Amino acid sequence: MTLIVSAIPVEAPGEVDEALHMAADEVAAGARLIEWRVDALAEDPSGLACILRLVRQSPVPCIVTIRGAAEGGGWRGEDTDRVSMLEAIGTATEGPRYIDFEQDCLQRSANLRQKVLLAVDHERQVRDLKTGLIESFHDFQTRPTDLVRRLSRMWEDPACAVAKVAWRARSVRDCLEAFELMRQAPKPTVVICMGGPGIASRVLSPKFGGFMCYAKAQGDMGTAPGQLTVPQLRQQYGFDRIGAATRVFGVVGWPIEHSLSPRLHNAGFASVGFDGCYVPWPVPPEWEHFKASLSAMLDFKPLDLAGLSVTLPHKEHLVRFVREAGGTLDEVAARCGAANTLLVRQGSLHAANTDAPAAVGALAEALSIPASASEALASGMEPSAVPAGPEAREAWKGLRVAVLGAGGAARAIATGLALAGGRVVVFNRTQSRAEAIERDLHRQPLPGGGQTHVVSGRASEIACGCFHAFVNATSLGMEGGPDAAASPLPDDVSLDDRVVVMDTVYRPRRTPLVREAASRGARVVDGTAMFVRQAQMQFSLFAGRAAPPGLFRSLVDEAVAP
Ligand code: NAP
Repeated sequence: MTLIVSAIPVEAPGEVDEALHMAADEVAAGARLIEWRVDALAEDPSGLACILRLVRQSPVPCIVTIRGAAEGGGWRGEDTDRVSMLEAIGTATEGPRYIDFEQDCLQRSANLRQKVLLAVDHERQVRDLKTGLIESFHDFQTRPTDLVRRLSRMWEDPACAVAKVAWRARSVRDCLEAFELMRQAPKPTVVICMGGPGIASRVLSPKFGGFMCYAKAQGDMGTAPGQLTVPQLRQQYGFDRIGAATRVFGVVGWPIEHSLSPRLHNAGFASVGFDGCYVPWPVPPEWEHFKASLSAMLDFKPLDLAGLSVTLPHKEHLVRFVREAGGTLDEVAARCGAANTLLVRQGSLHAANTDAPAAVGALAEALSIPASASEALASGMEPSAVPAGPEAREAWKGLRVAVLGAGGAARAIATGLALAGGRVVVFNRTQSRAEAIERDLHRQPLPGGGQTHVVSGRASEIACGCFHAFVNATSLGMEGGPDAAASPLPDDVSLDDRVVVMDTVYRPRRTPLVREAASRGARVVDGTAMFVRQAQMQFSLFAGRAAPPGLFRSLVDEAVAP
């Protein structure tokens, strides 16, 4: 079992009471050990007394760490004074479970090393299970070239009770090396990749036998980049459920720090009792990064990679990757050249696009058309493999839909609507991209024969189209997007309650388009409708069963303000 350690920095004597309260909260949240980071406190004249009190009153066994400035910490004094302090702490009657000492500092002098060993007294460790030495190494810049040699030295050192190495991950591929080192470890070992690309190395440490996982205390900045809180580890990632057989999923994109998908899929896995864990895999925008990261993740068999959500800017890369690997594509992905879901089944790859059936399903519901996607949702089948029923096809045939935008989302939505039988006009700032969608879809007859009804339109013609529905697939109105205050729908478009206006942007939920369309009398569907559906469809592909009814909707409602 991997122990969650909550790291609590204490800088001054006046903070001790608050730190002890914080520790109680961390333990209530599920921390099994507390790390007292006392770099600055140790320099105070009453520092030793305060640290001994923290150790004595710690609600669970604890680690004492005094990190020097050269090691990324706050202690500015001499090494010898630091060692004397740790010696006093380590040999106290009620000592900590561990003291943490940097490998470099230990090796600077044989004398220092001797004193540290005295402080942790290896004999006493064995006899009383009392204070042990965590020998650690941190590189806050990159992966050091001598990483493995350093770790091997810790493994060979009989005085080292726990080996710990942490480095700033350069890419998600560093996590794979971390997993391999955890697997090989002959003694309790902690391997951490710091920073955003390293989150998987923390979350998945129980799968690979990591000894401890460091968390940041709630409300604190954390003591290293990429640390999660105890509730994030346990509730968002299901840390306690992760074991050797857990199958791994995740989201690949750039940026993805604010992705809701880990919260949704992990809650879904927990709710249906599926042994899976879903983590963020940030991969920079270029094809080469995507290809190298996915190849490495698939090649590292112990990862048990079973599926991925793939988001901006990699949806087209996914189709290219799966084609080059000889895998298969669903109907929408093959037609529009973009996919948002990767499935790994017995080593073979399959890419699917759940954006299109999700958008079509959300629109169909608002237009009261029976949707093929909902059948798929209920059955756990691949949504786009389910043909629209004749009744739905008839209904779509009589409807005109304006798709605003010609990026990846617009392309998928136009493809989904074309397959459903709808008549679509694509409008875009850059006209040539709208024309390319028309051209590409026209080249591919519908599965049962016949042409798609997708054309491109000129922006000046939006108001003349007598559309039954408008779908915004531009990034206008999106928080942090090109123009968060703008709406893509011109003022002269007449709206009433027979017209549906659907946004794909879901942050914020009430975009300028949603607000305007509602005030002008249209029936409005906000971007969360498509988001929830595409996630439910992905879940059913990942877990082979339907997402728990209402769960994703309630989590999205909680996370995205109404
Ligand atoms: P994309 O490929 O980057 O396309 C962006 C689109 O927005 C292009 O058509 C672009 O026009 C247009 N655009 C950007 N800035 C504009 C401006 N200032 N004025 C007018 N048009 C502008 O992005 P995407 O993948 O298609 O995503 C588009 C939106 O869909 C995003 O907001 C995304 O959040 C949303 N989406 C939502 C879901 C969901 O589940 N709800 C799923 C997927 C996507 P040009 O071609 O002229 O540049």
